[in-house]
Amino acid sequence: MRVRSALVLLSATCLLVFGSSLQAQDLGPQIQKIKDGIYLYVGDEGNSNSGIILTQEGVVLIDSGRMPTDSLAVLAAVKKLTSLPVRFLINTETHADHTTGHFVFSPPAMIINHEGASEAMRKAYDPERNRRLMEQSPEMRKAFQGFRLVTPQIEYRDRMTLNLGGRTIQLLNLGNVHSEANTAIWLPRERVLFAASVAVPNSLNNIRPYVTIPDMIKGIRMMKALNPEIVIPGHGLPGTTALFDDTIRYFELLLERVGSMVREGKSLDQIKQELRMPEYEHWANQNRMPTNIEAAYRAVAGSN
Ligand SMILES: [Zn+2]
Repeated sequence: MRVRSALVLLSATCLLVFGSSLQAQDLGPQIQKIKDGIYLYVGDEGNSNSGIILTQEGVVLIDSGRMPTDSLAVLAAVKKLTSLPVRFLINTETHADHTTGHFVFSPPAMIINHEGASEAMRKAYDPERNRRLMEQSPEMRKAFQGFRLVTPQIEYRDRMTLNLGGRTIQLLNLGNVHSEANTAIWLPRERVLFAASVAVPNSLNNIRPYVTIPDMIKGIRMMKALNPEIVIPGHGLPGTTALFDDTIRYFELLLERVGSMVREGKSLDQIKQELRMPEYEHWANQNRMPTNIEAAYRAVAGSN
């Protein structure tokens, strides 16, 4: 009898804390349940994802979606899951398609990313992007009401741990892998990893001039070594560490091919014209291939 009532109490507590009475489909078409109390808002057409982590002391979000309409959909899902406030919003990167909707949550939420994130966001801030988005629809214009640029109030160096409401949430600096500040979010007990945008399923990355492929590989290997059960990329569907293996295999092949063309004495322009990666032609964003070749060329030239 006592065991039974303890169980009833326990499951009632679980419902309160983790909202497990709700089916993911009640939360809107773009929400997937990852594990108890952990949900993902999957950006449509490969746009950026947002994570929702429930704790006994409030909610932790990962990124705020591509546009404020996404942020409002995330907020609506959070309100269905819990009456507790959003306490923290962790950024996996600095780009506008992960950060524009911060004003929807902060205040009261505190935003966190690695050192340098706020400065990079202020420098890259482009009011034109917002104006263009607002012209898309009255709904979007409405979603932008109250907009202001909100940058991380908390910046950490190297790593940081949030101990909140029964969860341990580790923030790990990924280094020079995509934007000016890139954070992986690791839940060691649940073995869930939010892996930022260094590896995106079936897609080429836009590799900026300050990013290096060896740094990307190093960041990916660091995440793989955590041995996560579920890997949630910044864009695309959740999966496993197979994403890391696929991405490293792609980079190794790219470096090998660019390397042998450099040894044949070919220039960067010749390599850009001649190099083919037929194994990866089905990947999205082929227009980013020139930035991949440039990055491979920098890596190969640097190691000569
Ligand atoms: Zn990005």
